[in-house]
Amino acid sequence: MCRHVAWLGPPRSLASLIHEPEHGLLKQSYAPRRQRHGTVNADGFGMGWYDPARPEPVRYRRAVPMWTDANLPALAEVARSHCLLAAVRTATVGMPIEESATAPFASGPWLLSHNGRVARDTIPSYAEGAESTCDSAWLAAAAFVRLRGGMALGETLAEVVTHAGAKDPAARLNLLASDGVTVAATAWGDTLFLHQRDGALLASEPLDDDPGWQPVPDRSLVLATPDGLSIQPL
Ligand code: GLN
Repeated sequence: MCRHVAWLGPPRSLASLIHEPEHGLLKQSYAPRRQRHGTVNADGFGMGWYDPARPEPVRYRRAVPMWTDANLPALAEVARSHCLLAAVRTATVGMPIEESATAPFASGPWLLSHNGRVARDTIPSYAEGAESTCDSAWLAAAAFVRLRGGMALGETLAEVVTHAGAKDPAARLNLLASDGVTVAATAWGDTLFLHQRDGALLASEPLDDDPGWQPVPDRSLVLATPDGLSIQPL
């Protein structure tokens, strides 16, 4: 189980999600507090953010432990955006450890991260468009096909998760995705927390001990937009 986090709201730095909080993503890469599957997230990390200079998000991924990248702290300090997404990875047994298997996956304006696992034979038709043979990349490919076809972000995540969850009842399907305007997330088999102050912060587990963190009920979809936030059951 990996850990992921996203922000939608007034511009802030990636360091404010990764390095600055006491239990930010860097700490979660070697000492997560709520992780039920796996103990460290050392198989890679990635981050994506939106900048007015380009229509597509900027993405930075590595297949090494987050704490070994000496260039990351400075980069994360200056990478600022109203919309940020970052993840650290523990590869599921049998999945490749490579940059292309590391979240966030991307297509056009969309970014997507997955915490969990799913039997790949539930989504075989998406293997071709996937960035990697990793199960998460196949889920991302399934979502990107729908998004390119015009389906809304929340509806897409709901459909991909309920479809895969029905075919593989043991699947864990926490997805986190964005188009730069909205952020959508599912809780399906793993923890997801929400913190709202000025904007929306969604994370696999709290970044600090602030009492404002709220657990999102399992089997639900969270949709954060510039107008507010909704949580609906899946
Ligand atoms: N199954 C995915 C992978 O192998 C996600 C793993 C996870 O959530 N730990 O990367």
